[in-house]
Amino acid sequence: MPPTFLSTFHLILSTLSTLPTLQNLNQEVFSLPGYGPQGRIMLIHGANEGLMGYIKLSYPGKTSCFGCIGDLFPPPRVSAVDLLVYTPRTPEHCVEWVAVLEWDRAVPFGGPGTVRIDVHNPQHVQWCLEKAQERAKMFHIPTERLDAHLVQLVIGKHPPAFQAGYAFNAGLFSNETFKFVTECSSNLNDMDFFNSGEIYKINTVPNEYCAVCKGK
Ligand SMILES: [Zn+2]
Repeated sequence: MPPTFLSTFHLILSTLSTLPTLQNLNQEVFSLPGYGPQGRIMLIHGANEGLMGYIKLSYPGKTSCFGCIGDLFPPPRVSAVDLLVYTPRTPEHCVEWVAVLEWDRAVPFGGPGTVRIDVHNPQHVQWCLEKAQERAKMFHIPTERLDAHLVQLVIGKHPPAFQAGYAFNAGLFSNETFKFVTECSSNLNDMDFFNSGEIYKINTVPNEYCAVCKGK
């Protein structure tokens, strides 16, 4: 992505989900003349997983950039499938594993590829629920939330926490974008971190060892 393309925008909104890609964008944006509040080019980045997430604005010389805080991010996962196979952490991951992998492997109600999961079929839901519970126990994941309703929501692609998290993050994005465009109020100083409806203000400082901003 050539810098000249990015320099045609005043505001760059990012929801990139992988750190290397985000850091590439961060580097490109920092190289733009006029980046920062005075130059009227701003990068706003936000991301969430379930009800946990954040939104961040970077001010050169005042706050960290994404090169400065790369060490704060968890190690990158190889793929979403690897997460389901090797390191599931939530009941939703267990249900997703059943829907994406175990259903086609076990073919419980017919030959491979002939029967798709029907979230309105009680037998299908019950089978998925039992497999997801077995999976959760294997990885010592609490199963209190794991019931037929959750199975229907996740397989129906409506996991409640994710939808609420996206909505929450979209609200923060809209708020910061509106303030930036209209100048009706000051933008966020650095970063808002949210977890299950609670918002925490976080202020970071530039890292002098950062290869992108060099702490400036
Ligand atoms: Zn930096």
